[in-house]
Amino acid sequence: MQDFSQARNQVLQQIQHACDLAHRTDVAKLLAVSKTHDADTVRAMYDVGQRSFGENYLQEACHKIDELKDLEIQWHFIGHVQRNKTKLIAAHFSWVHGVDRLIIAQRLSEQRGHELPPLNICIQVNIDAQDSKDGCAPEDVIAMVEKIQQLPHIQLRGLMVIPAPNHTQAFFDAQALFKKVALAYPTLQSWDTLSMGMSGDLLPAIQAGSTLVRIGTALFGARDYSQDR
Ligand SMILES: *Cc1c(COP(=O)(O)O)cnc(C)c1O
Repeated sequence: MQDFSQARNQVLQQIQHACDLAHRTDVAKLLAVSKTHDADTVRAMYDVGQRSFGENYLQEACHKIDELKDLEIQWHFIGHVQRNKTKLIAAHFSWVHGVDRLIIAQRLSEQRGHELPPLNICIQVNIDAQDSKDGCAPEDVIAMVEKIQQLPHIQLRGLMVIPAPNHTQAFFDAQALFKKVALAYPTLQSWDTLSMGMSGDLLPAIQAGSTLVRIGTALFGARDYSQDR
């Protein structure tokens, strides 16, 4: 098993550096994206201090979550959420980043175990209007916030975006939208998360105010998709 401390420290340093450059006093959080990597790999990253992990593929994630029950991991679902997957997601995860329709949030709230803390949600926005992308339209966000913040077993945390590569302006557009919601809902205390930035673009994302970067490749190396998922 690889020693991941060096890779993780390097990413943490990049995050700190990006925050310094942007004169930020807060530090963006690191979500380790462990999709395609096995449970032992996650355990090794945990052993060097990482506590929050992001997964896209539900079957694969549920196996890992089960295998790693003995660890205090905060699991984030970062894939697109399909309607027929909400029950498993609500049962296994602490966070869901890919909510782009009200019905999905409603189902997650209904299906969240009432003995569990509320499920943390980010609304995914198609910030740069890519044809192929998931996410709601920017102009629909306020209406979604209005409804989602009333759901009993949901804690609405913020926005998630995945702009096209090298589209730095999109990060600033996301920041503007994030702030617009904060201004419209000053009492929405939980609105604190702007989930954006991956291995290739964490610097511009943090300069535009990302509070949480989702990093896979820079931590674990390249992914192998040869196995079926
Ligand atoms: C895979 C994935 C990431 C991580 O991407 P890297 O380029 O490997 O850092 C981040 N966010 C989402 C939504 C992903 O699917």
